[in-house]
Amino acid sequence: MVDFSLTPEQIELREKYKDFAERLMRPNARKYDTLAEFPWDIVKQAYKEGLMNGPMAPEYGGQGHTIFESALASEEFGAGCVGIGICMDANTLALTPLYLGASDEQKKKFFGRIVEEKGVAAYALTEPNAGSDVAGIKSTALLHGDKYILNGHKRYITNGAVSTFITVFAITDPEKGARSLTAFVVPTDSPGVEIVSNLQKMGQRASVQTEFKFHDVEVPVENRIGQEGHGFLLAMKTFERTRTGVAALSIGNAREAYETAKDWAKNRIQFGKPITVNQGVSFMLADMATEIEAARLVTWHAAWAYDNKQKSANQLSAMAKMYASDVAMKVTTDAVQIMAGEGYSHDYLVEKMMRDAKLCQIYEGTNQIQRLVISKNILK
Ligand SMILES: Cc1cc2nc3c(=O)[nH]c(=O)nc-3n(C[C@H](O)[C@H](O)[C@H](O)COP(=O)(O)OP(=O)(O)OC[C@H]3O[C@@H](n4cnc5c(N)ncnc54)[C@H](O)[C@@H]3O)c2cc1C
Repeated sequence: MVDFSLTPEQIELREKYKDFAERLMRPNARKYDTLAEFPWDIVKQAYKEGLMNGPMAPEYGGQGHTIFESALASEEFGAGCVGIGICMDANTLALTPLYLGASDEQKKKFFGRIVEEKGVAAYALTEPNAGSDVAGIKSTALLHGDKYILNGHKRYITNGAVSTFITVFAITDPEKGARSLTAFVVPTDSPGVEIVSNLQKMGQRASVQTEFKFHDVEVPVENRIGQEGHGFLLAMKTFERTRTGVAALSIGNAREAYETAKDWAKNRIQFGKPITVNQGVSFMLADMATEIEAARLVTWHAAWAYDNKQKSANQLSAMAKMYASDVAMKVTTDAVQIMAGEGYSHDYLVEKMMRDAKLCQIYEGTNQIQRLVISKNILK
């Protein structure tokens, strides 16, 4: 029997995130989009209100949310402001390899530091010549005694410049290449970590993306997560767990754009009548509502599959991320179209939502790469 109703605890959790998004995120969305600055005040407040590190275990300072509950939270963050929301969700992304692969001692140490500092971590996989092709990573971490010496170049690293530490993926044996890919915790203030620049970009401008170079950075053996060579699997298992978060952010963004356009359209009079009497407009709204509902269903299914250890979880999380972010792109574009001149202006947030939507089709694996994952699965 399928049951789509939420438990009282899940409703309470969703309301808590919704309240935070309405009180602090949406009213500040334009400000941070314009300033393109990391919203430290909002992140610190999220810590105070017990909203950070949702899916991390309570014994390490997290909230112990399931992936389904995390999706409920991320939808509200997305409705508040995707740019601010990703600052918090990218922290979860960076902590996930530790959650999955670190020892108890490492979890206590590194989660403990993030929680104590009320800080954020960053996840560094992408390189100038290794974007979709993760196996092309060239950064090296070579063992010398009880330390690895890290050299390499990473770019587009969300939270990079403001992070306490970076979860860096590097190869430990150039001959083995990606088969030796390994994850390390690298404190951002380590000698030899160079911040080259921060990305200037179109949307989600509250979040910061940093290009790093690593010059002979000493990384203690104790900072290696799991065994040498386990990095590729760890990176993929991380995405299986986090992609429903990108899907949920996208749904929140689409939902808010749809609601804004619907309310506006009901009151916009042209030719002596509200524009919603025209099927050209009302059918667009009908499609938007339907697509949001469908995106939420596949996302909830993916999150449920993950929480219940179903084999289908990987494929479903790829479907959810791909479909929900494509829906958000379409819905936000249609919201601007319905609101026309007003939609295009800075008087409303829908133009920002449209810019924000684009990025969800790109990070955590482009939607072409999600299609690759899905097609490989269905054709094997
Ligand atoms: C704002 C922002 C934030 C990001 N945050 C992070 C982060 O925190 N950490 C991190 O590690 N990375 C991050 N990324 C990197 C992001 O994950 C990559 O940009 C993404 O994986 C694509 O890599 P690329 O940009 O190098 O594009 P490329 O891999 O060069 O792809 C270019 C185009 O080719 C397509 N393509 C490539 N290969 C195939 C294929 N086999 N089949 C079909 N199409 C293909 C792609 O879909 C794309 O359309 C971020 C990126 C951005 C822009």
